[in-house]
Amino acid sequence: MAKSGGNLMDKLVSLSKRRGIIFQSSEIYGGINSCWDYGPVGVELKRNIKEFWWRSMVYWRTDIVGIDASIIMHPAVWKASGHIESFTDPMVDCKKCRRRFRVDELKGDHCPVCGGDLTEARQFNLMFKTFMGPVEDETNMIFLRPETAQGIYVNFLNVQKSSRKKIPFGIAQIGKAFRNEITPGNFIFRTREFEQMEMQYFVKPGTDEAFFEKWKAARMEWYGELGIRPEKLRFHPHGPDELAHYAKAAFDIEYEFPFGWKELEGIHNRTDFDLSRHQQFSGKDLTYFDDQTRERYIPYVIETSAGVDRTLLTVLADAYCEEEINEDIRVVLKINPKIAPIKVAVFPLMKKDGMPEVAEKIVADLRKRYTVFYDLSGAIGRRYRRQDEIGTPFAVTIDSQTLTDQTVTVRDRDTMAQERIASAQLQNFFSDKLTI
Ligand code: ATP
Repeated sequence: MAKSGGNLMDKLVSLSKRRGIIFQSSEIYGGINSCWDYGPVGVELKRNIKEFWWRSMVYWRTDIVGIDASIIMHPAVWKASGHIESFTDPMVDCKKCRRRFRVDELKGDHCPVCGGDLTEARQFNLMFKTFMGPVEDETNMIFLRPETAQGIYVNFLNVQKSSRKKIPFGIAQIGKAFRNEITPGNFIFRTREFEQMEMQYFVKPGTDEAFFEKWKAARMEWYGELGIRPEKLRFHPHGPDELAHYAKAAFDIEYEFPFGWKELEGIHNRTDFDLSRHQQFSGKDLTYFDDQTRERYIPYVIETSAGVDRTLLTVLADAYCEEEINEDIRVVLKINPKIAPIKVAVFPLMKKDGMPEVAEKIVADLRKRYTVFYDLSGAIGRRYRRQDEIGTPFAVTIDSQTLTDQTVTVRDRDTMAQERIASAQLQNFFSDKLTI
């Protein structure tokens, strides 16, 4: 596979804008730092990534159920979780240019931009604050959630009782999280508003280490199924000084981005930290009663925490290829067909002889199951290339032969090979290739 040369991140940013994958937020006002909007193509890719995760975590298993909790929670949640006290990054300011940096990202002891002197490090809380109701005082201060996990913990017993789950079982959630990051950047890699796909798996204390290993393996496998090249993925264990305040053990799954190996997902053994703290702060009994062994305990939690946006960036970076064809460069996103934004493009070769009418019937049929793009103008080669750029796995072309024998050509995005098949067979042909 010919990969891209030059600066891949710049290419992804410009392709994303040009083809409606991702736009800078509020662009007509000059943009706003670290906020991005998903366009018509990007929103489909994002939905498909989330759908694939949800299916793997919830529908294809019997031990995990989903929830969708409120972004705004009782402020006591963040005291109990430790976020008010400990969700901080040490930061320094440059005395000369006033830029702000995360201490753990600095190489020397001077400003990396202008060389100026830096202030002493101080702790900066990453939670966004706002006020609930019309009075803007301390008692009405609330936070935008910095992780979706807490919505799961506070609902642990509601979910367990209403769905009659027995330990071990998990609760999954996809939703927005907000962090006032000191140094956002690298496109959608680190932003201040982002989406997480989190799953908290509740286990009996003593079985936590075995489940931690299981989830590590399962999550790595998931990225393979998503289509990411295995040689670009690795585990990074957290050393004692890297561990978050709640964790007994933590491994990151890292991807080799154009800017280096970086975290894609965290797998954490959170012990009984969160449930114990919520029990303590709320005064409510959050223990689980095992009616087989007659034991009562606070479960341990194994967490898998992935970023939707980071996964999407990984998919783009991993799939982007440039291929030289007849002294021309073909840009193609070799995305796993099952998560491709548009599944099938349908092209009448010419705008005459009834070809568009036949094509429209095919579109109407395929649309029942897939996202379909219909384009009837322009040179066929250019129409194919435009779909290659957004990763459309198949293009169906209706030509003069179609009018006599009801066959069409199906072009494969990756090989560019075309095969003729009966149009009545299209649904069958696509079904296992394109369904998540
Ligand atoms: P980092 O070290 O990169 O700041 P973290 O260790 O704070 O990440 P976690 O709290 O474990 O991250 O969050 C779980 C996942 O949520 C991350 O692996 C990442 O995919 C995603 N995530 C976290 N912060 C951001 C962000 N600012 N922008 C985009 N995604 C994020």
